[in-house]
Amino acid sequence: MLSRLIALFTGGMKAYKVQDLKRTARYGITAKNFKELLKKGAEKLKIPEDEVTIVLEDDGSVVDSDAFLKTLPTQTVFVFLRNGEQWKGAGALIHDALQKLLNCTRKSQLAEQIREFMEDDDSPSKIHVMSSYLEMLGTDIKSEQRYENEDWFEGINKKYKTKSDLMKNSAQTRIRSYHTTAKDQIEKEAKGHTKELLLDLLEELTEELKANDFHGHYFDRTAPAEKRLCDREGWFRCQGAFDVDKCELLHTINPYASRGYRQLFGLWNLDHIIEKSREVIPTLIEAAKQKPKYKDINWKYVYNLLFTASNLKLVQIACHKKSAREGTLKWQDFCR
Ligand SMILES: [Zn+2]
Repeated sequence: MLSRLIALFTGGMKAYKVQDLKRTARYGITAKNFKELLKKGAEKLKIPEDEVTIVLEDDGSVVDSDAFLKTLPTQTVFVFLRNGEQWKGAGALIHDALQKLLNCTRKSQLAEQIREFMEDDDSPSKIHVMSSYLEMLGTDIKSEQRYENEDWFEGINKKYKTKSDLMKNSAQTRIRSYHTTAKDQIEKEAKGHTKELLLDLLEELTEELKANDFHGHYFDRTAPAEKRLCDREGWFRCQGAFDVDKCELLHTINPYASRGYRQLFGLWNLDHIIEKSREVIPTLIEAAKQKPKYKDINWKYVYNLLFTASNLKLVQIACHKKSAREGTLKWQDFCR
């Protein structure tokens, strides 16, 4: 109703949104008829007018006449396709996401709600966010005990009685592996006295790791808030690649939600911001070699770089970058 009134006062002009296939940008435009929509949209998106096919974002139907355009509400989103491009429609994406739900009984009802919700939302990444959210919906986040959700624990040793137990163990395993690989590297690359000194240092670090329970609390949703990387329900956010402040792609996951998500979480990396094997360990070896006799290696500093969240970032596989980083450490940093 409101949109019709507005159209009346603006001489038949209606506000629409246009985007291209890749959703790199979305523009608001106004148009009073199909010809104008085509012209303005093509201009904004820099696609030659004669190459364009306009489809509805929602279900991919082709819009090619004034008659059809008139039936569409203001703020409708159009996708401008180039020759050869195809758009399945947001509806299809949502349907795909829903297909994956473990519990499919409320599928159609959910889909209806989501469609309604999406009509009012115009954030560029809404489809992505919605589909990830939907995939989680039918799952069972709340349950904690093994007997409540045997499926989540499939293939897991009987000694794990709660989801948090297992998640805690999986964080511990990762942290332990950092210790093991550090040790291997030192054994391989350091020599003589330097090697002895550093292997002793690693022993000390093991004691500290034990005192901190191998940082299992990073993945444990029952741990105190300041110690865990997730929220109380078990949602993790990707923290973005080592060289950016945050993940622009809004990656999120809840491994507590289902067996599938638990397994998927295994692909998330706990990356070192200052790289462990290419920077931390080589510089540490250098420090042990070069340091004056009256100075010690600052074990706490080494510990923080190798095992704590101050130098770790949890990232989704797409945000995991292998590229070489600028070296920032100096061997003097390790001495005290
Ligand atoms: Zn990310």
